[in-house]
Amino acid sequence: MSVVKDVPKQLLINGQWVDAKSGKTFEVPNPATGEAVAAVADGGAEDARSAIRSAHEAFKSWSRTSPIERSRYLEKAFKLMSDRRDELGQLITFENGKPVEEAKKEVAFAVGYFDWFAGEARRIYGELIPSNVATRRLWMIRQPVGVVAAITPWNFPATMITRKIAPALAAGCTVVLKPAEQTPLTALAIAKILQDVGLPPGVLNVVTNLYPEEIGQEFLVNPLVRKVAFTGSTEVGKLLMRGAADQLKRVSLELGGNAPFIVFEDADFDAAVEGAVGIKYLRVAGQSCICANRIYVHESIADRFTQAFVEKVKAIKVGSGFEPDVIVGPLINKDTLDKVSGLVQAAVKQGAKVATGGGPLKEGAFAKGYFYAPTVLLNVTDDMGVSREEIFGPVAPILTFQTEQEVVERANKTNYGLASYLFTKDLGRVFRIAEALEYGLVGVNDAAGYTHETPFGGFKESGLGREGGKEGIDEYTEVKSIVVNLPK
Ligand code: ADP
Repeated sequence: MSVVKDVPKQLLINGQWVDAKSGKTFEVPNPATGEAVAAVADGGAEDARSAIRSAHEAFKSWSRTSPIERSRYLEKAFKLMSDRRDELGQLITFENGKPVEEAKKEVAFAVGYFDWFAGEARRIYGELIPSNVATRRLWMIRQPVGVVAAITPWNFPATMITRKIAPALAAGCTVVLKPAEQTPLTALAIAKILQDVGLPPGVLNVVTNLYPEEIGQEFLVNPLVRKVAFTGSTEVGKLLMRGAADQLKRVSLELGGNAPFIVFEDADFDAAVEGAVGIKYLRVAGQSCICANRIYVHESIADRFTQAFVEKVKAIKVGSGFEPDVIVGPLINKDTLDKVSGLVQAAVKQGAKVATGGGPLKEGAFAKGYFYAPTVLLNVTDDMGVSREEIFGPVAPILTFQTEQEVVERANKTNYGLASYLFTKDLGRVFRIAEALEYGLVGVNDAAGYTHETPFGGFKESGLGREGGKEGIDEYTEVKSIVVNLPK
């Protein structure tokens, strides 16, 4: 566990690693065994205040650095984090549970945001606007919004951080990061990387804690915080937005999803099966907001699709993320395991049929962890909880449909609107459906999800604002119009 030993366990405030003012720490469990991996500082409101003050002080000089200077720090972070990919991957597996190969892939993706925004830092363009008066000049510039409070979840403990701090730092903002209580170590290791590349003190601060409300509240009431960038549940996102209203803080929210995965009769069959397995089971055991939540298959190919899909799901190896060939690791904690179990049990009661899996795994090596068998449910209807709610586990409900119009209506009948997928070779249908789906991301014959180059975010209750792409940096800037009358 030397990768764990090497990570700082304290708060990072103004470039110093410090204990929580209370002196308290909390334990980080390994979800595969339930055993503590490490103890880290349990910060509170006072620590958050110090971190915010330090970010505010640092903003004065950081916001005035040249874009190319900021870009160089991000390039160095890209390089150093890439060098530490294997260690970071193992760290993620210890605290998050996902298989170590998957974790390393996450790190490789996460560093890409340093790379992308190192470039974007140099393209925060303004505009010279044609004036309405001959002796007046108008121009527009973009300036950093100020101190950013970033709150991130545990499912992609590296990516969710870099996707926020890279554009924030690139834009000239300073940051106080509060990572998820389940995965503080990855956050601390990333902060150490930024410290090691010489990022000035106070530009990035990290406050870890066990109960998020207290620090969350400080972020909302402290007037020095100008923006809250959040990824997590829709419930907490709404709470933060309400809290941000008092001071009209900027918010960007990337929240829950309920992705439809639609397979038409003319789809490339193997690609559709492969894609569905990938986006359901290969991303943190289904605990991702862009995971397929409802798989709609055209009735004419439903039996064939189900058979091929179930065969692949049965071959998935479950276990600790450190075991070779494991595809599905443990769920993050007992609450998640109970929620997934409850959704499946309720569906079965309402008439769903279990094609494979169907319950938690408890025997032998699974005894202490939070393992759930990769599950496929048939005879599922739109009104069941598994269709309406975000499952966040390795459970695939299969539903059938007859017409294009019907499936689009059913796919859109949710308050969520993050990711969606469709598989077809019909070009007309691609455009009709991609335009009709009320989702921020539409994968057409593609189940790989978003990339650094594309803006990512949700429609409806899946969020506000976009991360990644060129839009991702706009979220960290304010637009200023400057009107100048020329001297006579
Ligand atoms: P998840 O179900 O993915 O854990 P949450 O929305 O509960 O989603 O958590 C995402 C992030 O939000 C985590 O960093 C968590 O600590 C934080 N969080 C949860 N509740 C609050 C809150 N009341 N105020 C601020 N942050 C919170």
